[in-house]
Amino acid sequence: MQKISKDNVIYAMCASNKPALYADSGTQIEFETQDAFGGAVDDKGRGFDGIDWNRVNPATGPLYINGADPGDVLSVKIERISVDSTGVIVCGPGMGVMGSHLSNISVKAVKINNDTAQFSDKITLPLNKMIGVLGVAPKKGDGKILCGVPDYHGGNMDCKEVKEGATVLLPVNVAGALLAIGDLHAIMADGEAGVSGLEVAGSVVVTVDVLKRKDAPQTLPMILNDDFIMTLASDEDLDVAVDMAVANMVDYLTKNKGFTTSDAVMLISMVADVRICQVVDPKKTVRVEFPRKLLL
Ligand code: CA
Repeated sequence: MQKISKDNVIYAMCASNKPALYADSGTQIEFETQDAFGGAVDDKGRGFDGIDWNRVNPATGPLYINGADPGDVLSVKIERISVDSTGVIVCGPGMGVMGSHLSNISVKAVKINNDTAQFSDKITLPLNKMIGVLGVAPKKGDGKILCGVPDYHGGNMDCKEVKEGATVLLPVNVAGALLAIGDLHAIMADGEAGVSGLEVAGSVVVTVDVLKRKDAPQTLPMILNDDFIMTLASDEDLDVAVDMAVANMVDYLTKNKGFTTSDAVMLISMVADVRICQVVDPKKTVRVEFPRKLLL
């Protein structure tokens, strides 16, 4: 299997990034990833004070997928997520929902064993391994988007449904798509209210496929798993992100599945949960989860 090492990182997604690797559609690729702090925090939780904030959220890549042309859709199936044996979580002033109420930075290094993390002597938590940053280059005219920012190209969506077994659909904006992946979380809840999940280095195996424009939905980004098809949207304003994500689901149901607009809206209102992915990044991310069993 082809692999991109964690030495190949970018801090912004951009059409002019030089590919770290070329691969064909239909192949599996391993991305070895640094944690969101670039490994600056040690296993005792030290080092956070010295972080270079221009070098956070590194994403490994980019991967050039042969045959991906602008207007196509890139399908990224997440086959496996492996995480290292220590994760780091932080909170403090200026960070997250409670940032104005905290006076000190707190950093905790958390040991990870198999499928659990030891938060304290009394609290052992099950892992829900997920990918924080997964994105492609934006359109040429949009310059670069920092890896910490989510948008139409994916990026730092911090969505806990980007996990093993899920497939993420992203727009191909430039030749080769230029896929990059990073910012694994061993554990994260919807909202990521404190500003970080249990941030951890590790590796991800994905299968990439190029879907040609005529075969693919354009209401992107989307996530598919066994139970749901999801539309996602990000904006500085959470209300706007909600509107965009719901409108994208309505578009998908009408253009790709033949529903009338009113039926689509009614069904969404009854059966599609509108959920918050995160509210702590420069843009906030929302997803709408529509049950796939209604789309047979
Ligand atoms: Ca993140």
